[in-house]
Amino acid sequence: MNSYDFDFFVIGGGSGGVRAARMAAGFGACVGIAEERYLGGTCVNVGCIPKKLFVYGSRMPHEHAVASGYGWSGGDLTLNWDTLIANKNTEIERLNGVYRRLLANSGCRIFDERAVLVDPTTVAVGKERYTAKHILVATGGWPYVPEIRGRELAITSNEAFFLPKLPERVVVVGGGYIAVEFAGIFNGFGAQVTQVYRGELFLRGFDTEIRQFLAAEMRHKGIELRFNDDVSALTKHGDSLRLTMKNGNAIDCDCVLFATGRRPHSDKLGLAECGVALGPDGAIKVDDLYRTNVPSIYAIGDVTNRVNLTPVALAEGMAVARRLFGSRDTVVDYDYIPTAIFSQPPIGTVGFNEEDARAKFGDIGVYVSSFTPLRYTVSREKERALMKLVVVRATDKVVGLHVCGEDAGEIIQGFAVALRAGATKQIFDSTIGIHPTTAEEFVTLRDAVR
Ligand code: NDP
Repeated sequence: MNSYDFDFFVIGGGSGGVRAARMAAGFGACVGIAEERYLGGTCVNVGCIPKKLFVYGSRMPHEHAVASGYGWSGGDLTLNWDTLIANKNTEIERLNGVYRRLLANSGCRIFDERAVLVDPTTVAVGKERYTAKHILVATGGWPYVPEIRGRELAITSNEAFFLPKLPERVVVVGGGYIAVEFAGIFNGFGAQVTQVYRGELFLRGFDTEIRQFLAAEMRHKGIELRFNDDVSALTKHGDSLRLTMKNGNAIDCDCVLFATGRRPHSDKLGLAECGVALGPDGAIKVDDLYRTNVPSIYAIGDVTNRVNLTPVALAEGMAVARRLFGSRDTVVDYDYIPTAIFSQPPIGTVGFNEEDARAKFGDIGVYVSSFTPLRYTVSREKERALMKLVVVRATDKVVGLHVCGEDAGEIIQGFAVALRAGATKQIFDSTIGIHPTTAEEFVTLRDAVR
């Protein structure tokens, strides 16, 4: 006889938690899932989905400008911000409903409340307590804002999706995915944008040449990039905000967006009380089967602060469900995870950047091509593309593939399959290109530049 209320209880209804819950229920487990805020988590509500809608929306003036080169003329475009936000909200609500139906139809019991751990097999949900044989913590992350004076005057990506109006002057602080994406979004919508990053060049960890290329493209679009600079305080001056910089300069603006990283959402969940080990940043420590040091408690996704990407959380959630209820061990392979940054132009990348490849493999061949894609040849509006392959000479294996240019995310997905399959440069070279496309460049790169 089952002595627990649930076989599996999931805390957190984001991408990873929902997938794990549905899959476990599909295997016949009795599943409960608690979500205090919104089903779909960061990705659906204040992340990937609304961000990509904003990227599309902010590209419209660019498309309009390109159109003139093709002979189109017409009135100026004007943006109705309220319509944008309302339509975006409608789509997000639709997705919330889809998530709810998927969970309910798979037989999960949904609790629209906060759940906290009471002991290793008990959760408190509202006033009730439930026991579960296995508990999965999938509570994600939360934006982090450095402790500087006036930080409460700034917004994070959470609020950026619900601004009452488009700010005229925006300062984006940070140099990661979210910062470059929002710098592009606000610029595209027509705001005056300054991006401040404390280091030498933003997107630390990505290929240097790609980062330099994106910086030049962003500057070309009118974004002011200030590197080696950081904010020391924020103050209000009438209707404006003033950022005091560490070098003593000041920037006045209407909106400051801090995109300075995210932290695991592991606070006040009863984790420490149950003896679950956390890292210094609050990340739940797990082994390669997502087990914490407490046998009944598992964790996946951003709360473990490893590879913080939605598709990774999905894969981890499925691995836990399969292992516990599907009688099958699946291991998530973290090699060659493709990723895209929806900057303007976007970046797509898989495998090693040039610097890391040289350090790891020694003798490498680097193939690079930068050009103006066909669609921009007849328009005054320009956006260039940079494509790059990194090949290990000894094995001829392509170990890195990078693109900054239109459709980068779409291009990289297929090439990621090839890299994971161990494709060599010779296989790339013998693959027939599709003409005229940007992606064909990857199979026509003949001479190494380095
Ligand atoms: P990132 O970790 O990517 O970047 C954080 C940035 O903030 C870095 O440039 C970092 O600088 C800077 N920073 C950190 N602390 C401070 C500080 N105290 N003062 C000044 N600057 C600081 O975080 P994001 O918030 O951009 O994104 C979070 C995660 O979400 C990403 O890592 C990614 O995994 C995921 N994501 C994925 C997207 C996608 O797939 N397209 C889109 C958006 C997010 P430094 O480099 O010097 O440390």
